Amino acid sequence: MRISDSVDTTWMVQSKCKEVRIDYFFEDENGEWKDYNLAKSTCETCPVRAQCLDYAVFIRDDQGMWGGVAGENRRKLRYKLNKTFDSYIKTYEEDIDFVAWQIKRSSADTVKNTFLQ
Ligand code: SF4
Repeated sequence: MRISDSVDTTWMVQSKCKEVRIDYFFEDENGEWKDYNLAKSTCETCPVRAQCLDYAVFIRDDQGMWGGVAGENRRKLRYKLNKTFDSYIKTYEEDIDFVAWQIKRSSADTVKNTFLQ
């Protein structure tokens, strides 16, 4: 079983980006955004923004805009989380569901405190 198997994805049905062309949410091969501000503002009014960012950090997806945060900042957030949750993983490494739940719960708190104010 992979950790990501136990992550909830039901929030995706409420994604606001379903109303916008998906290529607005990714950089092209030259690293240029088609419309960064459009992607960012769509995320800022999305009802599932926190869940989206939490999910992208959790599955280690560093491409494009998720939850209003571009890949480079999500890498930084993940680095912080990896340090924070080292002790959980060492202690409970045999219980993958528990580790997944702890990371998800605390990731959501970190997202709220760091990026969604
Ligand atoms: S936060 Fe942004 S990328 Fe995530 S589901 Fe909402 S609109 Fe889409």
